[in-house]
Amino acid sequence: MPDCMFCKIAAHEMSSDIVYEDEALVAFRDINPQAPMHVLVIPRTHIDTLNDLTAEHDALVGRMYRTAQRIAADEGYAESGYRTVVNCGAGAGQSVFHVHLHMLAGRRFGWPPG
Ligand code: 5GP
Ligand code: ZN
Repeated sequence: MPDCMFCKIAAHEMSSDIVYEDEALVAFRDINPQAPMHVLVIPRTHIDTLNDLTAEHDALVGRMYRTAQRIAADEGYAESGYRTVVNCGAGAGQSVFHVHLHMLAGRRFGWPPG
C-alpha cells in the first residue's frame, strides 16, 4: 500500500517502538502519547477504516482486542484499567487511514470522551 506509514511501520521500513508483533499484528507506542501508556495495535494487512471490515476480518479484530488484553497485562494496567478507541473517519478524528486500536492507560479518563 503506497505511502501508508503504518504499513511501513509494520514492514519495519519506518522505525517505531514496537511492544508486540506476530504474523498478523503489530503494536507500537504512539509518537504523540495522550496518556502514560499509549499503544496502537494494527493489522499487518492494510485496511483503511473500521467501515472496510468484512466477515473475513472477524478473527483478526478479535485478535486485535486479545492482543490489547495481553499488552495491558504486560504493562501492568490489566487491573487498574485502560481505554481502547477506534476512530473511524476524519469526522471522528481518524488521521491515519490504516485501521488501528488505540490503547491508553495510566491516567483518569473522562466520559463522554472529547
Ligand atoms: P488517529 O488520529 O488516526 O486515530 O490516530 C493516529 C495516531 O497515530 C495518532 O495518535 C498519532 O500520534 C499516531 N502517529 C502518527 N504518525 C505516527 C508515527 O509515525 N509513528 C507513531 N508511532 N505514531 C504515529
Ligand atoms: Zn497501511
